[in-house]
Amino acid sequence: MFIDTHAHLDFPEFKNEVHQVLGRAIDVGVRRIINVGVDFDSSKKSVDLARKYPEVFASIGIHPHSANDLDIETKQRLFTLASHPKVVAVGEIGLDYYYLKRSSQFSKYPSREKQIFCLEQMLDLSIELRKPVIIHSREADADIYAILKSYQKDIRGVVHCFSGDWDFAKKILEMGLAISFTGNITYAKQGSEIQRIIAEIPLGSMMVETDCPYLAPEPYRGKRCEPAMVVRVAEEIARIKNVSLTEVEKQTSKKAMTLFGIS
Ligand SMILES: [Zn+2]
Repeated sequence: MFIDTHAHLDFPEFKNEVHQVLGRAIDVGVRRIINVGVDFDSSKKSVDLARKYPEVFASIGIHPHSANDLDIETKQRLFTLASHPKVVAVGEIGLDYYYLKRSSQFSKYPSREKQIFCLEQMLDLSIELRKPVIIHSREADADIYAILKSYQKDIRGVVHCFSGDWDFAKKILEMGLAISFTGNITYAKQGSEIQRIIAEIPLGSMMVETDCPYLAPEPYRGKRCEPAMVVRVAEEIARIKNVSLTEVEKQTSKKAMTLFGIS
């Protein structure tokens, strides 16, 4: 069984199609899917999907792009939402400086300070709930490292959609966190740093995900991504590490089951 550890089936791209999309996933052996919230509404929708479909589990949290939404009431509502037994993580949470660095009128995006405040609140929530975290880091690896380091002894979790360098990968593993990979690893050129990272780090610290509807792996690049395509991500890892697909399937799923407490 494969586990897609990061999907957004509540997004409008899947409107009225979740049933068929899940059918295609199950057909290729993807039997567990973690649907990840990005704000309160999508966290709630993730829980609704988990209620409805046995294969789906939910993660709840506030993405850095929605950091301005966070107030005491929202945090309290997330805490209440997390009482559902199929809520397995807090995420996705983190820092995203991509637009802050590029946009001329970046006031629309939460400031660095706001994002950091939101991340720390969400890490505190994960500790209160005793659940692992799903971390998003985009062009913010140094700040992410500094903050996670200060929480190191109290948190467990994964840095998702890994796109950092070797040094960052090493630091994540040293903190006892896992790394998960999306279809974007299939875009990399032969000999690129991401391939070296995949080759070097142990399979037992890795998980696979789609981040669908985004980042469809080759040969589907540019199309809408869906959980069935996580098998392509696992195939790419098997190719780079020169191990069997079954081995990748077994070890990444074992890691996901242990981290998120699912069976
Ligand atoms: Zn995501």
